[in-house]
Amino acid sequence: MMRTMDLRGKTMSRAQLLAAMPRADMGTREASSQVQPILDQVRERGAAALRDLEERFDHVRPHDLRVPAAAMQEALEGLDPKVRAAIEESVTRIRKVCAAQVPEPMATDLAPGARVSERWIPVERVGLYVPGGKALYPSSVIMNAVPAQVAGVDSLAVATPPASDDPRGLPAAIILATCAILGVDEVYAVGGAQAVAMFAYGARGSEPQDGEILCDPVDKITGPGNIFVATAKQMVSGMVGIDAVAGPTEIAILADGEANPDWVAADLIGQAEHDELAGSVLVTDSQDLAQGVQEALERRVPRTEHADRVRTSLSGNQSGIILTDGIDQSIDVANAYAAEHLEIQTADPDAVIDRIRNAGAIFRGPYSPVPLGDYMSGSNHVLPTGGTARFDVALGVHTFMKPVEVIEYDREGLKPIAAKINDFAVSEDLPAHGECILSRFLDDPYDKADL
Ligand code: NAD
Repeated sequence: MMRTMDLRGKTMSRAQLLAAMPRADMGTREASSQVQPILDQVRERGAAALRDLEERFDHVRPHDLRVPAAAMQEALEGLDPKVRAAIEESVTRIRKVCAAQVPEPMATDLAPGARVSERWIPVERVGLYVPGGKALYPSSVIMNAVPAQVAGVDSLAVATPPASDDPRGLPAAIILATCAILGVDEVYAVGGAQAVAMFAYGARGSEPQDGEILCDPVDKITGPGNIFVATAKQMVSGMVGIDAVAGPTEIAILADGEANPDWVAADLIGQAEHDELAGSVLVTDSQDLAQGVQEALERRVPRTEHADRVRTSLSGNQSGIILTDGIDQSIDVANAYAAEHLEIQTADPDAVIDRIRNAGAIFRGPYSPVPLGDYMSGSNHVLPTGGTARFDVALGVHTFMKPVEVIEYDREGLKPIAAKINDFAVSEDLPAHGECILSRFLDDPYDKADL
């Protein structure tokens, strides 16, 4: 069911290895021509454009673009108690991890009277995008909102598409109920690129129920979404902050002959269930395991509910089994692939983890499968995709905070380096920079004779 790439006996440069990795194309370049007019319409016509675009893309015209408080309450009261308990468990666990993530301020004394310190300041207003097209992701509400709240963000707004079968154009009740559990009360029934535009530019009202200002612009937009959401985020970035631009989700499982082929197959299928473009990759030095996994896939895939989607994903070019000639080559492949999710299922997982430098999150051992992290491990499931784990990281409290340096020199601290700063400034042909410093010590900073 999955193609096999046999790297045994092959010596590859880093560049060759990077190029050989199975990967789906993001396709944001093509989408940008569709997204630009959506951004322009929202910037020019505010709420009126949002209603038109919702009707066009989500096939419903929301009466209230901002979800009324009564609808939030109604959704919370209608929530299945078992689902509520699961949501609350997830929130409790991620909140604990986030609390431990809050960065400490630091201060460095370089000399008497010369100190640089760093303060972590929360972003003031954040827009969280929660996808709602093909599937519903209350877990994404939690993964975005909890770190923002723990960081101390003052103002949080959520945007998520309206449900096309709701005559009032409200988003899915489970999303609204999750927002209510988290105390997020600013929720918009707006999806896709138009939601990103609303967050970036703000939107003025067009109907009496909108109020004059429907939505204030935000400072940062986070959250996953489809190609239109990802492209819109990329296009407004620079004007507002964004988290990573997420592409199709992916898993790499680095396993040896000790791994259980049934569990490995289950984890590959679990990832493939997300999307036809999802990538599921097994990296192993064991031909027996590779064979066992192929057999387990043949048995399991026909029995899973979304078998067609899973089969398309597993047989696509973005998925495959990579056979290596030993653990060293497996580790090189995992680092080149830089998986969003990396499972380690080997006899000595710690020895492998020590040598992993590129992964969005590492799932250690057979009892830490990816869906644990999707919902309830306490870790964040918004992770860098498409190889960007080489330089990007998971969403966390730090995503919603800014380190700002405070420079604190007094006369005693500045004087010993005044002449050096002046020399540096003059070497850059910026003498007025030097004169700023010299003014503090000389009556005439333009006459540097007595420095
Ligand atoms: P979505 O909410 O991202 O997109 C739906 C919106 O797309 C609609 O509201 C509509 O406005 C817009 N749209 C649809 N067709 C359009 C078109 N032709 N032109 C312009 N706009 C159009 O929901 P989705 O489509 O289900 O995608 C969700 C994505 O998010 C999936 O790829 C999923 O894998 C991903 N996801 C990732 C994570 C993560 O943590 N990385 C978590 C959850 C979901």
